[in-house]
Amino acid sequence: APGRIAFLGLGHMGEPMAVNLLKAGFDVVGFDVVPAAVAAATAAGLPCATTAAEAATGAAIVLTMFPSGAILLDAYRGVDTPGLLEVAPPNTLFLDCSTIDVAQAREAAELALAAGHRSADAPVSGGVVGAEAGTLTFMIGADASDMDQITVLLEVMGKKLVHCGEHGAGQAAKICNNMLLGISMIGAAEAFVLGEKLGLSHQALYDVISTASGQCWAVTTNCPVPGPVPTSPANRDYVPGFAGALMAKDLGLALNALENTGVSAQLGPLAAQIYRQFSDEGGAGRDFSGIITEIRKNSGN
Ligand code: NAD
Repeated sequence: APGRIAFLGLGHMGEPMAVNLLKAGFDVVGFDVVPAAVAAATAAGLPCATTAAEAATGAAIVLTMFPSGAILLDAYRGVDTPGLLEVAPPNTLFLDCSTIDVAQAREAAELALAAGHRSADAPVSGGVVGAEAGTLTFMIGADASDMDQITVLLEVMGKKLVHCGEHGAGQAAKICNNMLLGISMIGAAEAFVLGEKLGLSHQALYDVISTASGQCWAVTTNCPVPGPVPTSPANRDYVPGFAGALMAKDLGLALNALENTGVSAQLGPLAAQIYRQFSDEGGAGRDFSGIITEIRKNSGN
């Protein structure tokens, strides 16, 4: 047995992930700063601590599923109370599954290692559905020597694990993928609106793109128009799926990384701006493929 897991951050993703670990027989203690999240997790059968420090005391693994890197760094260092790095026993594995800034992920790893612990970043894709079903994809940045222990845990919550490299590499892979996804969805939506203007049926354009060189996930799985792919969010008025707010967040992280590295990108920053506006103007809770509605509106349709 790997020892006790302190699972911090019992939100949309964290709660079902923690419950899956519990069901698989692991010793899990949860904690969240929001009492309603603790109450929901407790009702789902998860034992919960009353403070983060209480959860981390005696833990072999501290697993976090937080909204941001700033929150993670505050929790590691401690704000007014001793931080997790101080209260956890030596050599604890700090496994962060949140989606955060690459630079902050590297900083978190440095702090953990300097405090005598081990560290890994393992952001996910697959959403709440994947978290509940235990079918997430994990992108992992970690020392190779920690991969056996990490695999035992993540296999319970996911079905595909990719070891991307050293600390921060998981976050790097996640934002590169999601930057491409954001760009390709805008491209797919523009292509379908242009097709509409040119008198093409959605099905005809789908039949061509899905078997031609424009083929991509944004079209063949998450098609922004209803009809050709019956399971895509377009068929249910853009109920997510992958919410606009999360795409805007991930593209913001990509933008930080583009700026930090000096990459001469044009489409990534533009996609970040387009999804920030979409999210701020009503798209936050809609599937990101709903961007097509904005393009139609701006095209006088
Ligand atoms: P969420 O807001 O539902 O959950 C985050 C939880 O963390 C909240 O319950 C919050 O109260 C808690 N929290 C904040 N600060 C805390 C602290 N100091 N100690 C303990 N708990 C604290 O968010 P979510 O949808 O579960 O997403 C979590 C992470 O996973 C995010 O980084 C997100 O980008 C990423 N992600 C989400 C999805 C998705 O579909 N929801 C998909 C992939 C990745």
